[in-house]
Amino acid sequence: MINLQNFVQTMYAKCIEDCSDQELYYALLAFTKQRSEAQCTNDQKKKVYYISAEFLIGKLLSNNLINLGLYDEVKEQLVAAGKDLIAIEEMEMEPSLGNGGLGRLAACFLDSIASLGLNGDGVGLNYHFGLFRQIFEYHQQRAVPNNWITPRSWLSESPISYQVQFAGFSLTSKLYDIDVPGYKTERKNRLRLFDVASVDENIVYDGIDFDQEDIFRNLTLFLYPDDSKDQGKILRIFQQYFMVSNAAQLLIDEAIAKGSNLHDLADYAVVQINDTHPSLVIPELIRLLELRGIAFDEAVAIVKSMTAYTNHTILSEALEKWPLDFLNMVVPHLVPFIEELDRRAKAIKDDESVNIIDNHGRVHMAHMDIHYGYSINGVAALHTEILKSSELKPFYDLYPEKFNNKTNGITFRRWLMHANPSLASYLDDLLGHGYHHDAAELEKFLDFKEDKNIKAKLEDIKQHNKRKLQRHLAKSQGVAVNPDAIFDVQIKRIHEYKRQQMNVLYVIHKYLDIKAGNIPARPLTVFFGGKAAPAYTIAQDIIHLILVLSQVIQNDPEVAPHLQVVMIENYNVTEASFIIPAADISEQISLASKEASGTGNMKFMLNGALTLGTDDGANVEIHELVGNENIYIFGEDSQTVIDHYANGTYRPSSFYERDGIRPLIDFITSDVVRQFGGIDERLWRLQENLKYNDHFMTLLDLEAYIQTKEQMLTDYEDRDSWLEKVIVNIAKAGFFSSDRTISQYNEDIWHLSTK
Ligand SMILES: *Cc1c(COP(=O)(O)O)cnc(C)c1O
Repeated sequence: MINLQNFVQTMYAKCIEDCSDQELYYALLAFTKQRSEAQCTNDQKKKVYYISAEFLIGKLLSNNLINLGLYDEVKEQLVAAGKDLIAIEEMEMEPSLGNGGLGRLAACFLDSIASLGLNGDGVGLNYHFGLFRQIFEYHQQRAVPNNWITPRSWLSESPISYQVQFAGFSLTSKLYDIDVPGYKTERKNRLRLFDVASVDENIVYDGIDFDQEDIFRNLTLFLYPDDSKDQGKILRIFQQYFMVSNAAQLLIDEAIAKGSNLHDLADYAVVQINDTHPSLVIPELIRLLELRGIAFDEAVAIVKSMTAYTNHTILSEALEKWPLDFLNMVVPHLVPFIEELDRRAKAIKDDESVNIIDNHGRVHMAHMDIHYGYSINGVAALHTEILKSSELKPFYDLYPEKFNNKTNGITFRRWLMHANPSLASYLDDLLGHGYHHDAAELEKFLDFKEDKNIKAKLEDIKQHNKRKLQRHLAKSQGVAVNPDAIFDVQIKRIHEYKRQQMNVLYVIHKYLDIKAGNIPARPLTVFFGGKAAPAYTIAQDIIHLILVLSQVIQNDPEVAPHLQVVMIENYNVTEASFIIPAADISEQISLASKEASGTGNMKFMLNGALTLGTDDGANVEIHELVGNENIYIFGEDSQTVIDHYANGTYRPSSFYERDGIRPLIDFITSDVVRQFGGIDERLWRLQENLKYNDHFMTLLDLEAYIQTKEQMLTDYEDRDSWLEKVIVNIAKAGFFSSDRTISQYNEDIWHLSTK
């Protein structure tokens, strides 16, 4: 039994009823922190260090209360005092320590590692302003600092501090921890965020600009500072080395404290390298081991037996290659190690496709990971196959035994129990609580797929969630949405490969169709949400077109009752938790072969939306699980796309000539779009890009996409059959629990004791 009233009384000398939501938030923060601080950390001998540039953890209050098993009690005591936990949660700032799926995956993994009782910490950086906060001005994205660190927060100062050596100076680090309680385990792990003692927030001016050369003050200000120029690239190397040197020092210290003599370091620690940002941990660990008296050859062998790498993308521009010159400017003491690792790799095979240092003097981070790690995994079955058969084939030929697949997952604690309490409690009533610990038990829901009462209840829950989103949007961005409309949602980073532009062309199609007198059976609301990298011009143009189109439609009395476009501002975990439970259609329309996995697709499925997607990433596995009749798949397959790239056979201009496509593209620069604030330069650039470049083959799949979406809207009207599909999707979502993913990481890669 907890007594919140007492706690609040002691803190503020008044009762809950008399406190503001802000006061109650701080009280609950203190209360929850106290509870998790009292828990023991996992302390098994071997520990995984999940090193990642991003941890997109989202707000923590409700999630931690759920995991600590206190949520219901706290909620009841607040309700008894006339207070609402949802309103209190609004006082919490969302840490913006991540950019997208990769960072959110790391957060889900921390939750699952803790919930399975495994010993494992996340290690990253404490970016003061995180990724930028997105605001819309003049129909464009503006990036401003996200000031998420309030005087009281989830961060706890730790006494741990290290020196990190750079060329000509060193920086002192300062460690902050965030507790990660497991779901009803009575144990916790931690997210360890390193900061620079000398960081200075005051050097940021005019949005997100700052002196990129002032490393002493800027190193932990932003996640992914603009690296379109050399100075930005150099800053990223500073950040990466700072992160991994701290992680390596921490790992060695913790192992020694537990009795390691360093020769046996691999019995105490395993490092998971999340994408290439932490790759410098390999030479850094070797260097530190040598400094502590271990011979070079042995140090290499030790590190080889304790580092594993996760690949998240086949987009080559995302596989980092740092010029050796830059590394020499930042960390000259590390360069001889990298050069020696490169020499040894070249002795095995000297070929540009597998060399660590290429002929242009650039260091390929992924190549270092693959040569000197013992495991390399892709994040969905299709992705791993593409790595093996094409992108990393030369490596697969060298080291077939290192390659394995770990299909991504999501934590159901956040994406079902917290985000969709109505659905979760209904499933509890129907299926029992077993699925909380074993998500595969959701399959029991299949027994109800013809049950009319259950379908009616699911309809109610969706309607309830739509109204909840309606209230949220009215409050957060002053937008009114119609809960009787079909909610069609595409929320994810803005990138051409994810093809928001294809969805925009559908919206134009629908607009023109309604203008031509074809009134749809039911209104449609198309939601977009996502940030675009500030230096990624075409992505900014796409956001611009969405925002202008939204105005065009809203101001057209013939169309507005039937079609609406909503662009969610500053898409993040909090927004996702409102939108996903309200969605009917989940847009997963990346160009086949380009989306490594996707995890948004899994969240939607679990929350009863049907997927409209290509056979890409984990969509392929969703497709296999639910079967053809419960998913809407369209478009060319990954092999066709890969062949187009290999043979240079895709020509957007030939598609542009088609009657079904040309008017949609032409509309981008039409008078009506320009009248509602369209900026010529942006519109023309986007249009030209689609007609003459279209690197991600939007037009290739456009007609099939429009046709399939229209079919979906028609099928929506058969509520009985639609809801049957919904039930199948929820029932089959169990596979995508990150508990399953983490169990597989542990069985195949980490080998931690489950005690
Ligand atoms: C799940 C999630 C993502 C990843 O979405 P994808 O559709 O898989 O790209 C990105 N951002 C946030 C906030 C998320 O919750």
